[in-house]
Amino acid sequence: MRTKIVAGNWKMNKTASEAAALIEGIKKEVAGISKVEVVVCPPFTDLKDAAAACAGSNVALGAQNVHWEASGAFTGEISAAMLKDLGVTYVIIGHSERRQYFGETDETVNKRTKAALAAGLIPIVCVGETLAERDAGQMESVVVRQTKAGLADLGDGLKKVVIAYEPVWAIGTGRTASPAQAQEVHALIRRTLAEISCGDTANTIRIQYGGSMKPENAQELMSQPDIDGGLIGGAALKADSFAAIVKAGV
Ligand code: PEP
Repeated sequence: MRTKIVAGNWKMNKTASEAAALIEGIKKEVAGISKVEVVVCPPFTDLKDAAAACAGSNVALGAQNVHWEASGAFTGEISAAMLKDLGVTYVIIGHSERRQYFGETDETVNKRTKAALAAGLIPIVCVGETLAERDAGQMESVVVRQTKAGLADLGDGLKKVVIAYEPVWAIGTGRTASPAQAQEVHALIRRTLAEISCGDTANTIRIQYGGSMKPENAQELMSQPDIDGGLIGGAALKADSFAAIVKAGV
């Protein structure tokens, strides 16, 4: 009942012309696939060309961050309306690299999420524990805290949100959570969603796994009952490996 969603987080990679070329390659590979939603999230500077490349295809466009204010003296920041105007549909919020290197907190994740929803963007909200937190037995408290705080007071908007569980120790390390480890945390996130929502909402929200997902492990991860797709870093930078992950979710 939940449509799987596979999104590529390109991070700080690809110029605008490289982005357009990569999207052309992805479009060829995933043409006709409707069972899995396909999203690419290039850097801000690529979005205009990327939107043109995605137009009329089954590849949707996402950004990697958004500021919570609508406009004003916030040098270097990008508003939700600016993204929307460029044809952006999704936006990644609270990626662990933003938390680790750029001072992102649960509070700012929540503000960005609210701003994205208000502008009609679909937030992909990232949560996940570090290795030190896992080793200290804090995985559960960290993931529950990030989920509850990041998604606080969204009202009906909660139904639109996509969550990405990304154990920090698995990002860019080649070390993937086992399907059982990932499923355990996805189920925890879904139980947490049930606590903060009503009715069937928790069962309708998509929870992606992210952290060294690749063609070789994607099918097994995505066949877990609470894993509804992937947020892909390294393997999203080549059309063939990204498309192979998309196909693994069909
Ligand atoms: C990410 O940064 O969102 C990610 C999952 O990266 P990788 O696939 O390279 O681990």
